[in-house]
Amino acid sequence: MVIRPPSEADSILLQVTLGCSHGKCSFCGAYRGKRFSIKDEAQVFRDIEFARESFTEVRRLFLVDGDPLIIPQERLLRLLERVRERLPWVRRVGAYANAKALSRKSDDELLQLHAQGLGLVHMGVESGDNGVLSRMGKYGDAEFILEQGRRAIAAGMKLFVTVLLGLGGVSDSLPHARATGRLLSRLQPDCIGALSLMLIPGTPLHAEREAGRFRELTSSGLLWELRELLACVELEKGIFFSNHASNHLPLRVRLPKDKAAALERIDRALRGEEPLRSESARRL
Ligand code: SF4
Repeated sequence: MVIRPPSEADSILLQVTLGCSHGKCSFCGAYRGKRFSIKDEAQVFRDIEFARESFTEVRRLFLVDGDPLIIPQERLLRLLERVRERLPWVRRVGAYANAKALSRKSDDELLQLHAQGLGLVHMGVESGDNGVLSRMGKYGDAEFILEQGRRAIAAGMKLFVTVLLGLGGVSDSLPHARATGRLLSRLQPDCIGALSLMLIPGTPLHAEREAGRFRELTSSGLLWELRELLACVELEKGIFFSNHASNHLPLRVRLPKDKAAALERIDRALRGEEPLRSESARRL
């Protein structure tokens, strides 16, 4: 199964890596059991030829799996060049980019990638709270993640980020929400997607829950956290989504102008006056 952001549902998905080179986040089941590797270049070029035959109308292309930016620079530039040559109708190339992969590229290399067509990166921020980040096995602390995101923006790329409601559990819900909101305000990404934690059997965090060492938030706890987080986010211009299938209350909020209305909607949901997605309908 190939994983892509909801916003890339209609994009050409070009697989250039398998798995994620970090692979240590305790909540993440995305690539569990997949050994990280970079896909054979000749095969990727054949896949581009397939896309040339099959997707003549598709204007967006997304590189998968977990962190294509870990690919050595020269090879990544060749790949982007091939996309430009063979799929000239593609207007936007996006990729997942975790903070580790971004940190391995110099500022000049990020500029080169942008000049060669990489216009958008999706980065999993997950939390702005250092305690939560460290317990969850994320690579780097909040300042490191902030710096890497800013470097992508400075290179001219659009930055879409995800954060994970519930990642602090019951004990750290409030610090997680507030620190995450503050980090997002400093980062100023173009788009924020808030997902809700769903524990996946086989992950370390699931085992923590089973052992009674991690207490999950209830649906109302997740809504309180969503409210707190959104209240703390100050974007000059951007979009905040909570419409992922893991969430109870789907929102699409243009910031800053729709924030007050969105907070009122969450308040209505907390009073039971807004329909919520049922637990059984939630999914990753
Ligand atoms: S960096 Fe992303 S894909 Fe990799 S293990 Fe962490 S959450 Fe999963």
